[in-house]
Amino acid sequence: MFDENKYRKKRYWENPEKKRKYQEEWRKNNPEKIKAIAKRAYRKKISLNKNWNKEWYAKHAELSRKRCREANRERRRKILLHYSNNTLTCKLCNFSDVRALCLDHINNNGAEERRRSKKPTGNSFYSYLIKQGFPEGYQVLCANCNMIKEDERVKAKLNE
Ligand SMILES: [Zn+2]
Repeated sequence: MFDENKYRKKRYWENPEKKRKYQEEWRKNNPEKIKAIAKRAYRKKISLNKNWNKEWYAKHAELSRKRCREANRERRRKILLHYSNNTLTCKLCNFSDVRALCLDHINNNGAEERRRSKKPTGNSFYSYLIKQGFPEGYQVLCANCNMIKEDERVKAKLNE
């Protein structure tokens, strides 16, 4: 009896390279079909397990939170490095523990600027600065110097 599968397998092993090339060509010439196949497979996956996305997240929540934290830390470090001329120290007192360093608006208009133009804050503010190509007007201060500066700003305002 003629066994088509066996015949195909035999043909394949006679010239696997040719077959591989043929498949490659076919994929190149039929991108729409490839897309349709992928879509079908995706739908099947979804219909088999409607919660797979949720389940994946539940399983990997710790991992994705960790990745997010690492990305934020990296972004913050990049920003602080840039605005401290690669020294990672406070501009006024040379304090160098990166945990207590922060970005300071040189012209004391941070809050005002945020109100006016609705610029993002925190981590998205760091992303914003990177996207803007590190605009000027910022410096790195430690928490102490930053607080002292803020205190003096408020007093100066009261005496105006
Ligand atoms: Zn300082």
